[in-house]
Amino acid sequence: MRIFLIPNYGFCFGVKRSIDMAYHTIKNNKTPAYTWGHIIHNPQVVAQLEKTGVSPLDSLKGIKPGKLIIRSHGVSPEFIPKAKKMGFEIIDATCPFVQKAQEYAKRLCNEGYNVVVIGAAEHPEVQGIIGHTNFRATVINDLKAIAKLPRVQKLGIVSQTTLSPEIFAEMVGKLLSKAEEVRVYNTICRAVISRQQETLELAKKVKLMIIVGGKNSANTKRLAELARSQGCEAYQIETKSEIKKQWFKNKLSVGVTAGTSTPDWIILEVVQAIKNLSLPKKKPRK
Ligand code: SF4
Repeated sequence: MRIFLIPNYGFCFGVKRSIDMAYHTIKNNKTPAYTWGHIIHNPQVVAQLEKTGVSPLDSLKGIKPGKLIIRSHGVSPEFIPKAKKMGFEIIDATCPFVQKAQEYAKRLCNEGYNVVVIGAAEHPEVQGIIGHTNFRATVINDLKAIAKLPRVQKLGIVSQTTLSPEIFAEMVGKLLSKAEEVRVYNTICRAVISRQQETLELAKKVKLMIIVGGKNSANTKRLAELARSQGCEAYQIETKSEIKKQWFKNKLSVGVTAGTSTPDWIILEVVQAIKNLSLPKKKPRK
């Protein structure tokens, strides 16, 4: 069986930066250290960081102040002064591309546009973006939601950074009928686009795709959808332990791709585990 791995796997720039910042923060650190939420959507990386003494928080109430790392998804602007006031030292690892989306949303709002964010309302990145509009922006995730929007004078649009360009284009096309003036900022991240393109290309060549990444990672889920859109059998796994031998029965080739928050070592372990499946079993020595 031939195994194909996408050319550019591993952490994207923003995720790598946030992990590096977290490890740098805890080096020679004497105070407690925390991340606001899970630093990335990958349980194995979160567990590794926890072992070094960095705990993820979902509330600051009753927590002994220390260093608080803001993950690449960013936060709503009122959060940082509030945390500082409570005695936390902020290490802001918000991805610069997410910051751009936050700035555009804020600018649109200040210039009188009704802001629409295309993405998943519950995702922390989207929560941070709408926070920059004082929670005045509307979040939409599908075409049905567009039908319910009122027609307005000025409409401003930004996107969650991990959205697929095709979905964004389709939604923007429909939104054009909702206002006289429409301003669009394409805030989809280049790293996400190229990961999606490489996955699509690979999915065209094989019948089976293995997608490696956190079950809670939006961009990893999207890769699985894209692979299936090419008629591939596709399985999303977090680690090699989830691989099932029967997936590979009668398959001459398999493609492996991974979300932008999946570390190299997990991906390479998966590739090795698939290779091991096709190795002939050693005969026991007599
Ligand atoms: S996917 Fe893009 S926007 Fe998100 S963290 Fe990575 S580089 Fe930043």
